[in-house]
Amino acid sequence: MRVCCLASGSKGNCTYVESDNCKILIDIGISTKEVERRLQSIGVNASEIDAILLTHEHSDHIGGLKTFINKYQRPIYAHISGMKAITQKQDVPPKLQISFLDNSFTVKDMTVTPFRLSHDSVCCVGYSITAQGKKMSIMTDTGMVPNEAIDVMSGSDIIIIESNHNKKMLLDNPNYSMFLKKRILSVRGHLSNEECALTILRILQKAYTAQFVLAHLSENNNNPVLAFNEVTSKLREYGVQEGEDIYIDIALQHTVGNIFTIEDRI
Ligand SMILES: [Zn+2]
Ligand SMILES: [Zn+2]
Repeated sequence: MRVCCLASGSKGNCTYVESDNCKILIDIGISTKEVERRLQSIGVNASEIDAILLTHEHSDHIGGLKTFINKYQRPIYAHISGMKAITQKQDVPPKLQISFLDNSFTVKDMTVTPFRLSHDSVCCVGYSITAQGKKMSIMTDTGMVPNEAIDVMSGSDIIIIESNHNKKMLLDNPNYSMFLKKRILSVRGHLSNEECALTILRILQKAYTAQFVLAHLSENNNNPVLAFNEVTSKLREYGVQEGEDIYIDIALQHTVGNIFTIEDRI
């Protein structure tokens, strides 16, 4: 399995996941041109993409959908409760719309398990994907982390997890209204760096995951160095050492992230 965050943040999210027989995107919040360019940079042609899984209807997750579908005619997958809100914003032919319920489903050789998140959208989900005994999970855009999400992600080889903001930076930001601050901080908003670290600890308590990728960093209320330092120092308080016990990488907005190749388990 290969995993790569092509873009991450409030200006657009897109993650690439590849198994032996399947290549998918999770969300498409950047332009088709940008998706093509970024995929090319990791040796993938956009025409090879088999399907797009969507998390929710916010434009930083679906902004590039319509143009991509018009060009490549690939099926989109979304939770039955969220499909309408997505296709109202980004027109997709009905024959390419595949709705799922809360249960697992398959996309070629991938088994996909969605899990519900807590966000100010009609419906927001995270995903765990298994193929050839390997497992990746992605969870962004959530104000709190339901136990069920922890359960589903448990045992992943790699987890992409939201680390949206530093609470103080957000509260001190003069360009954000109190309304917006409250929205982001609410249980239907976004995870702070500290909440991200505490969630990683909850995940580790249940089962071991070696690699985490901090994602959906705010460009105004966070930065990669701060997110890394805040998360790793919080983990250290609880005896988890980055670089020894687990590894943490950062997904960026304007640069294609590292490619993680999850080797076969023996
Ligand atoms: Zn959102
Ligand atoms: Zn978002």
